[in-house]
Amino acid sequence: MSFIIRYIRSFILLELLQGMSLTFRSMFRKKHTLNYPYEKGPLSPRFRGEHALRRYPNGEERCIACKLCEAVCPAQAITIDAEPREDGSRRATRYDIDMTKCIYCGLCQEACPVDAIVQGPNFEFATETREELFYDKQRLLDNGDRWEEVLASNLKRDEPYR
Ligand code: SF4
Ligand code: SF4
Repeated sequence: MSFIIRYIRSFILLELLQGMSLTFRSMFRKKHTLNYPYEKGPLSPRFRGEHALRRYPNGEERCIACKLCEAVCPAQAITIDAEPREDGSRRATRYDIDMTKCIYCGLCQEACPVDAIVQGPNFEFATETREELFYDKQRLLDNGDRWEEVLASNLKRDEPYR
């Protein structure tokens, strides 16, 4: 009896029709895929993307060259040199991150007492050479200027949990 049923099912191409009906129904369902890079999914405010050095609203650099981020970095990816300015304030003369070493752990951001070094929402910074991933202070400050609005908003959203 089961042989006859199997024979009838294969004769009328039942499995094929079931498969096609599933495909047809899926055409009208909400899609779970995104048309990247034209569409992007939501990111958590804690997303650990490309690094940035932030400034205060008056344009002054936040970093006070305390070197806590350099000390805490498990990958030893950060190099900071500092000198006091004429007004006695301490600022970094060199702030490098070797992004080829970075493991995106976020400890530098956690350690920073003035929210200067942060990891932003940018994850589209693939390069063709290693050298392009040796970030200097100017590159990091430029990232900060470019993403400041999002960075400030992310820090504010995350504030209650810190
Ligand atoms: S994210 Fe982690 S590994 Fe990368 S620079 Fe910061 S502390 Fe170092
Ligand atoms: S980025 Fe923050 S933790 Fe690192 S040296 Fe500057 S002030 Fe200190």
